[in-house]
Amino acid sequence: MYHIEFDIAAVFLSLFIAYYIIFKKGIRKTANRVFLGMITLNFLAEIADIFGSIVNNNPQYTARFIQDFWNYLYLSTHNTLAYALVVYVFYLIGYEKSKRKSLIVSAAPLFTELALLFTNPFHKLIFYYDEKSTYLHGKLFFIIYAVALAYMVFAIYLAVRHRKGISGTITKALLFFIMVTFIPVIVQIIFPYYLLTLFFETIGLMGLLFTIESKEETINPTTGALNRYALNSALDRAMANSGNVLLLIKIPNLNYYNKMIGFDNMNGILKRISKWMDESYKPNTSYDCGRGHFAVLCEGIDEAEIALMREKTMSRFERPWGKGEFSLVFPVQFGVIHIPEDVKTLDDVFMLIDTPFDGKVSVELDVKNAVYKYERGVLIERLIDKALKNRSFQVYFQPIWNSESGRFTSAEALCRLIDSEYGFIPPDEFIPVAERNGSILDIGQFVFEEVCRTYQEEQLASLGIEYVEVNLSVVQCLSKNLMKTFDETLKKYHLSAEKINLEITESATTENMSVLYDTIDVLKNSKFSFSLDDYGTGYSNISYMYEMPFSIIKIDKSILWKAKNPKTGEVEKNGHIYLENTIRMLKDMGYSVLLEGVETVEQKMLLEELGCDYFQGYYFSKPLPKQVFTDFLKVVNT
Ligand code: C2E
Ligand code: CA
Ligand code: CA
Repeated sequence: MYHIEFDIAAVFLSLFIAYYIIFKKGIRKTANRVFLGMITLNFLAEIADIFGSIVNNNPQYTARFIQDFWNYLYLSTHNTLAYALVVYVFYLIGYEKSKRKSLIVSAAPLFTELALLFTNPFHKLIFYYDEKSTYLHGKLFFIIYAVALAYMVFAIYLAVRHRKGISGTITKALLFFIMVTFIPVIVQIIFPYYLLTLFFETIGLMGLLFTIESKEETINPTTGALNRYALNSALDRAMANSGNVLLLIKIPNLNYYNKMIGFDNMNGILKRISKWMDESYKPNTSYDCGRGHFAVLCEGIDEAEIALMREKTMSRFERPWGKGEFSLVFPVQFGVIHIPEDVKTLDDVFMLIDTPFDGKVSVELDVKNAVYKYERGVLIERLIDKALKNRSFQVYFQPIWNSESGRFTSAEALCRLIDSEYGFIPPDEFIPVAERNGSILDIGQFVFEEVCRTYQEEQLASLGIEYVEVNLSVVQCLSKNLMKTFDETLKKYHLSAEKINLEITESATTENMSVLYDTIDVLKNSKFSFSLDDYGTGYSNISYMYEMPFSIIKIDKSILWKAKNPKTGEVEKNGHIYLENTIRMLKDMGYSVLLEGVETVEQKMLLEELGCDYFQGYYFSKPLPKQVFTDFLKVVNT
């Protein structure tokens, strides 16, 4: 007696899968059509298995041709399914014309088997009926198993051999499918009346559906175009092959247009753009990656074809999109990424897709430079982490000359990252990275503690240093714990906050003003003093300056250098006037004025003439490691 319970359950599962595929999303790619084919074969095999089992269990009530029909249908569909799996894997690893031959050759066992099956009435080698019409396996029935097994092994071989070309998830899902279907086959060979195979195959297909199919088929709901998940798996394959190009087409500042004409109208326009792309490039190669950023994946195209596509895109974007009052011309940015030559990882590609290019008008992206910068940023993040873990950041001190007392009365603490492998990394490079990923909080705390420790251990006060200038990043000002950790550190080294002067750069004063005010207020109440750093480089917002408790204004070196060039000694008339009046204005306002970047004696003399209070620069000293700094002070300050 054949048991059909599992088959019945399988039918319901298959119906669910079919519903999911057909109604939840459109069918777009060949691989997905092959998948749908597998589901159909599987479903037919289940129906045939159920009815075949019923008639084979009760042959006395059935005409022979009906019994034959179900048995042939079952055997032919089920065995074609094994081959369909191979075809499916072919498409997953990226079907190309060159693989067509392999596909046809690998169909040979199936055709042989089908030929054997359909000639069965003459030789009865696959199955036959005894005198009671009982269905029995023939002498060559094992071929059916052997061919199915061979196809499974071949599918595993393909998936593993091309695992670099497909994502790990896909390989795993395929291996899962094959495992789940393979074990019941063995069970069924031993217990032929338990019809388990189709049920487990359906489970395996569900596994494929939820891992591979649902990912591959993700579509952007607004534009109906393939989205970034679809691109992700396509890129997975592209990265493993050569001669691929990803074209980037970006509309800069999408948010601005959203605000201007409203989301609905803008979505309508994006939909038109997607549609135009789908019609203008090869079907299913253009992707909507969100935020007005589109990508087109072109496999195996040459430079001439790229130029043609660029031309086509650019000229289309010269004409308006949309209609009526919402008909607009958009600037467009174009980028060409050679895959895999230009990029190392998928992260690189998505960085290029997501980061808005510099410049607003139609420009072409310098892919190599963008990737270099990004990779460098990733490297620097790693070096920062390493230096924080090993506490290998260093703090250098640059003496600041006080013109009134004629000695060095303060110093600026400057952070140094010197990596054992990559050498000196300039702060102008690592500080912005640290600000972006938040590690500036730890770096800032490290510098603050180092300064306190040095001040106390090296007895800087007795060497004439009244306070140390410490750079404070805005990111630190946004941190709730700042005051608490500063307090604890000061206590640890028995110092008062008067020994620290915090430098805040001018550009910082343009954003997050209210939080900045609050933090500075708290710090001020604990007796910290403040300098405004890099005065004259940002958008000088004088009104902010009044509202902050700055005691020293540090004028940026570029202003001094424009007045008196350190290399040529040249004096520029307007530069001189600007410097002179800036210093006078700031002094009249009651600030102390510090000039950075003093490199020559001429500059120093000029500044003395202009009444500058503090001087900092290579003329006096470069930033020095703590020991050299204290030795320096012992010589010059005593
Ligand atoms: P900054 O605050 O404007 O620091 C002054 C910079 O000018 C320092 O560069 C210093 O070495 C350099 N400098 C001083 N005198 C001269 C001179 O005569 N000629 C020339 N050409 N340069 C001179 P550095 O050390 O490379 O630091 C660059 C920037 O990195 C700093 O600019 C500051 O914004 C930031 N930075 C450094 N350390 C820290 C830190 O601990 N925390 C934060 N948040 N930022 C820091
Ligand atoms: Ca500074
Ligand atoms: Ca500065």
